[in-house]
Amino acid sequence: MSVDATRRLLLKQLGSIGVVSALPTNKILSSSAFATAAEGPQAAVVLHRAPLAPNAFYPLPLGSIRPSGWLHAQLQLQADSLSGHLDETWADVGPNSGWLGGTGESWERGPYFLDGLVPLARLLDDQRLKTKAQKYLDWTLNSQAPNGNFGPASNDDWWPRMVMLKALTQHYEATADPRVLPLMQRYFTYQLAELPRRPLRDWGKFRWQDNALTVLWLYDRTGDPSLLDLVRLLHSQGYDWLAHFADFKYRERITAEYIKLSEDGGLKDLALSTHGVNNGQAIKTGPVWSVLTGIASDRRAVLKMLSELDKYHGLPNGIFSCDEHLAGPNPSQGSELCTVVEAMFSLEQSLAILGDPVLGDRLERLAFNALPGAISDDMWSHQYNQQPNQVECSLHHKPWTTDGPESNLFGLEPNFGCCTANFHQGWPKFATSLWMLSPRTSKDEEGLVAAAYAPCETHTILRGIRVHLIEETSYPFHGTIRVSVNPASPLAFPLSLRIPAWATGATIRINGEPQTTPSPGSFARIERNWKAGDRVEIKLPMQPRLSTWFHDSVAVEQGPLVFSFAIGEDWVKLRDRGMTADWQVYPTTQWNYALDTAAEITVTTAEITQRPFSAAHTPVKLHARARKLPDWRAEDGVANPLPQSPVNSTEPMEEITLIPYAAAKLRITAFPKLKS
Ligand SMILES: [Zn+2]
Repeated sequence: MSVDATRRLLLKQLGSIGVVSALPTNKILSSSAFATAAEGPQAAVVLHRAPLAPNAFYPLPLGSIRPSGWLHAQLQLQADSLSGHLDETWADVGPNSGWLGGTGESWERGPYFLDGLVPLARLLDDQRLKTKAQKYLDWTLNSQAPNGNFGPASNDDWWPRMVMLKALTQHYEATADPRVLPLMQRYFTYQLAELPRRPLRDWGKFRWQDNALTVLWLYDRTGDPSLLDLVRLLHSQGYDWLAHFADFKYRERITAEYIKLSEDGGLKDLALSTHGVNNGQAIKTGPVWSVLTGIASDRRAVLKMLSELDKYHGLPNGIFSCDEHLAGPNPSQGSELCTVVEAMFSLEQSLAILGDPVLGDRLERLAFNALPGAISDDMWSHQYNQQPNQVECSLHHKPWTTDGPESNLFGLEPNFGCCTANFHQGWPKFATSLWMLSPRTSKDEEGLVAAAYAPCETHTILRGIRVHLIEETSYPFHGTIRVSVNPASPLAFPLSLRIPAWATGATIRINGEPQTTPSPGSFARIERNWKAGDRVEIKLPMQPRLSTWFHDSVAVEQGPLVFSFAIGEDWVKLRDRGMTADWQVYPTTQWNYALDTAAEITVTTAEITQRPFSAAHTPVKLHARARKLPDWRAEDGVANPLPQSPVNSTEPMEEITLIPYAAAKLRITAFPKLKS
């Protein structure tokens, strides 16, 4: 569709759904619907409509941000590997998918695939991927039954539709496809009438907040008050995550016996409320619900949820253990890849709603460590479970609370195929969350927010003026970020820059002029009359630092990266799997080091590469001192629980090299600490 045709469509829709005659209190399209529509639909930011509580920030619509530098290379790699070819090699999303009208898989896998494929295709402006995604979108948009339900008729579960709705909202933001809003309106009308008779159950009951998110998205575009009734109904039928975390009871490793897994296939409340992916999705519950209630404690519930999960199940890679139920703080336990990408999406949404920089820090910790850590360097295979201390990926007995023996293999669908379908959303949604809009308030004009850092270009509109940002950086490997600000004509607006909590000594210069020293753990807000070519330089000093984990072990971090000792790897093919394969990975070197935390850790850096998360091309290495700890061993391919630190060792002192967590597919991340 041409820009002109898209614009006409958008204007027509806006007219037909009443936005043009919006009330003054309706803060839709602060950037002016007409000015933004003239630039294409990707520039229109839709704010919350009364009576919804305003967000601190609003994500820019898909298409506003384009990756560049290493991030573009990473997304291109994803497009060239499993994400861009999954339907060609995996029947679950292939030609017989229920989401293409076939008789094959008709549950969550098609929607999961689309939830990542749609943004990936748009970020890369890749016609092959757009065409591929369009088949599923067209079938879905033409699938609506007279009663309002949509999707495969053979499966009426609410849950997979919650995922497809997320894909549809992204598709709409990128294209203004006129079929999307009417389908969603009819479906939500159906849901409001049907839910009292056929209430949320199992997965849908525990993931209702994702359904609510898209209902609120549609309300912002139509103002139909019955949609808010639907959000209340979803809340009333959905699991009460806020109460769950207000009095968090699950402080130990969950066992199959405890949740009575054998009795009902794991679908009772006890099993589902301690399920990792459900918890990853639940992180956003308080913020999403607060958009309707306006209650500050609902909004800030996300911080309590994160702190409880960290306290009892936290791991140094930024995610909590869940293999696949909450599994305690031992770094030999695993975390499911779906949990990583769902927690990232929850953090992206929560960061927009709260505007709390700590959520941006956490998002980067996941994006730069746990996400690439579970995916092979070529992105053709992934793990179901990753471990911070991962000394072997094999069919040996593993410590998982409930998962099977293939869970930490790298492959097409190790253990279970959910992550195979779902991991695609990780990088694309991170890329679309780098910059956000800060809305106009009684005190401030609308502005732009650097929510997370990676190389990109952003096109948007502020107060009718086109603004183009060019962000150049090799962050997270190096700490300098340069942003060129280019409004079409001079424009005063606030630019807010996230200063991570670790960035002591951060500086900001504009056109070479030093600015007021920013505080770590805040957004540095720069108000100024911006002119084309203005240059912002942010320096975030990166020094090695230590953090404390299970049994007082230590992890080494620098900037947003966590570092690991890279164990020698021998990749052994287990079986071919169509266009890809399943792999076991065996250690070829010893790994049982205890770290000398009194010794200086030195840094060597190199230029950024196109594969910065691979061991062969890492742009940063740390050098530390350590002694082997002969009593710390592996059993059945699993590192035994770390001894309580500090520890003694009479083995020789050695220099060991640490590389970014994600680059070391066999690794030690939490080290016993030597007694000084
Ligand atoms: Zn999964």
